[in-house]
Amino acid sequence: MKILLIGSGGREHALAHGLAASPLCQQLFIAPGNPGTAALGENRDLPLTDHAAMRAFCDEQGIDLVVVGPEAPLVDGLVDSLSDAGIACFGPRRAAAQLEGSKAFTKEICAAYAIPTAGHASCDDRARAMAEIGRRGAPIVIKADGLAAGKGVVVAMSMAEAEAAVDFMFAGGLGEAGASVVIEDYLEGEEASFFAICDGKTALPLASAQDHKRAFDGDTGPNTGGMGAYSPAPVMTPAREAQVMREIIEPTLRAMAERGTPFTGILYAGLMITREGPQLIEYNVRFGDPEAQVLIPRLESDLATLFMAAAHGKLAALPPLRWRAETALTVVLATRGYPGKVENGSVIRGVEAAGALPETLVFHAGTRQSANALAAHGGRVLAVTGLGADVAQARERAYRGVAAIDWPEGFCRSDIGWRALSRDGE
Ligand code: ATP
Repeated sequence: MKILLIGSGGREHALAHGLAASPLCQQLFIAPGNPGTAALGENRDLPLTDHAAMRAFCDEQGIDLVVVGPEAPLVDGLVDSLSDAGIACFGPRRAAAQLEGSKAFTKEICAAYAIPTAGHASCDDRARAMAEIGRRGAPIVIKADGLAAGKGVVVAMSMAEAEAAVDFMFAGGLGEAGASVVIEDYLEGEEASFFAICDGKTALPLASAQDHKRAFDGDTGPNTGGMGAYSPAPVMTPAREAQVMREIIEPTLRAMAERGTPFTGILYAGLMITREGPQLIEYNVRFGDPEAQVLIPRLESDLATLFMAAAHGKLAALPPLRWRAETALTVVLATRGYPGKVENGSVIRGVEAAGALPETLVFHAGTRQSANALAAHGGRVLAVTGLGADVAQARERAYRGVAAIDWPEGFCRSDIGWRALSRDGE
């Protein structure tokens, strides 16, 4: 089978790693890809927003399956255009991608299907928002309805902070994204992510993970796209996973089907594990980055078969998925300055040596390969994944890989996995 994978990050390198390992995969194209994916298939610089050109490429090459990694092409309706032309796609159509694109939409579904989530009110004007805050009291959470690149959520511990956040959003501080806000009750607990694969009718549980959003050790510094992750998350016991499938994932899938916008793809639930059980914080409609770098290496079942079955509505016919028993942990290496402005072009050595270490994988994200050197090109540049019997061993292997990489202009957190390790010691 011929596969076209869309994207260029560490997530897509991990997906390419899984797809290229499939005996079914005869040819793999990655658009645009990165130097890591170039070793696993053919990178192509395709015009992703020109859907007619994308269709033409798929027809010319006889592509059997398109796998969309990032969110932007999903929201842009690439899956709609290709599916309508009869090309099998793994990823949601635009209407289903709203589960990520609009917090108010997801809250509506939660209310209609009794999916556990924080109590909330959507407010289109400042006065209503202020009244809601007054009624609910602090701590409280204020969220811009639209996408705001991670800056649209304020967890306010005091009333003053809450009011300042509302003022900022309605004063246009976030542009259009803040024209409507969601005021949400504060949930107390441990955060975890849970991933399920869906074909419109059936959802199969994949696995759990925990990430590290802040730039620096001790969860300090600015928010980032993610500085590391591990899977599984110890807080997600089998009983909790079953509860999340039953109370959150399955009703969501049912809701989407009943609305005539069935969901196909990866449903990634951001959860708060509270004393009352898991509650939904948000949905993403694709794998996380760097969560894919810990989930895909743990999957033993064939990835191409799995995506193909999902694209064709046939997940229910698959045998149970097989997973490696090991824990995976990934450490992201970023250019100094990230998430702020960074300078491109610094030379990176030792990536091959790191990848040759036992149970260690190096995924590229923001790299450029020239004739004689690999160089940094972007904020998050590499992710080093270690697999081991437990978090401690996976972490030791990941950091051994990091140590083999010679890149003075890069940095990483030194405490990925701290929460799981402190739990072990409890
Ligand atoms: P991102 O894109 O970074 O995932 P986002 O802008 O989509 O973020 P959310 O995921 O909804 O926003 O919230 C961001 C973070 O704020 C959560 O990961 C969580 O730590 C915190 N948070 C969100 N909602 C609540 C809540 N109701 N109670 C407590 N904390 C919350």
